[in-house]
Amino acid sequence: MKEQLKVSVKDLHKSYGANEVLSGIDLEVFPKEVVCLIGPSGSGKSTFLRCLNGLEAVNSGVIEINGVNLVAKHTDINKVRQNIGMVFQHFNLFPHLTVIENVMLAPVQLKKMDKQTAREKGMKLLAQVGLAEKADVKPASLSGGQEQRVAIARALAMEPEIMLFDEPTSALDPEMVGDVLAVMKDLAKAGMTMVVVTHEMGFAKEAADRVAFMDSGKIQEIGTPEEVFDHPKNERTRGFLSKIM
Ligand code: ADP
Ligand code: MG
Repeated sequence: MKEQLKVSVKDLHKSYGANEVLSGIDLEVFPKEVVCLIGPSGSGKSTFLRCLNGLEAVNSGVIEINGVNLVAKHTDINKVRQNIGMVFQHFNLFPHLTVIENVMLAPVQLKKMDKQTAREKGMKLLAQVGLAEKADVKPASLSGGQEQRVAIARALAMEPEIMLFDEPTSALDPEMVGDVLAVMKDLAKAGMTMVVVTHEMGFAKEAADRVAFMDSGKIQEIGTPEEVFDHPKNERTRGFLSKIM
């Protein structure tokens, strides 16, 4: 049997009013694959990730997550969404809850996990992101990089099959970036299926199975990091890379 695709997007179109932001996106993501999305600001990367997570209504096209069409009317989007972890540029931890309470919240509320189990699983995840000793502090006492690692642990607490990252290190001080990227690399090595919007070309080179270059609402080029970074075929990819590398 053919391995089930984790993500399958066909001819996705999305407009805000008269502004067509996604103009026919096709993308397949295989189990355990890491796809990095790169491209200029305003090219539609964040909008695309939000569509993958069912956070945006689309105009046309098909989005399948584990074979379930997200766009179909009868689909229970909330159920599909439980399978997808999302980490944004701005970590939105709940300030009034401790770190471990932030991590436990969704499994307890959405999956009805008992608190003891959720706490034990949460502690393992905090250890995985290197922050077990911060379990009982409030987010305000953490650095940006630590907060973002908690946000990753919190997303993992729902045991998602797919993780979406939207520029998870862009808002961080440079010295914090490495720790967050290291956690993401470990996750990739452990076999998580990931779609990562990033400006960190070093990370993309090292961790991505494939790199997709987005511009003007389309994936203009997709290939292995070597293909896209070392031998870009598309004129726009070449232009973009020459500006940033
Ligand atoms: P990127 O993440 O690649 O920088 P975005 O997906 O954020 O690009 O934005 C793509 C385009 O969609 C931009 O022109 C932006 O202004 C527009 N856009 C994004 N979100 C909205 C929104 N909620 N309402 C209207 N326009 C939006
Ligand atoms: Mg964006």
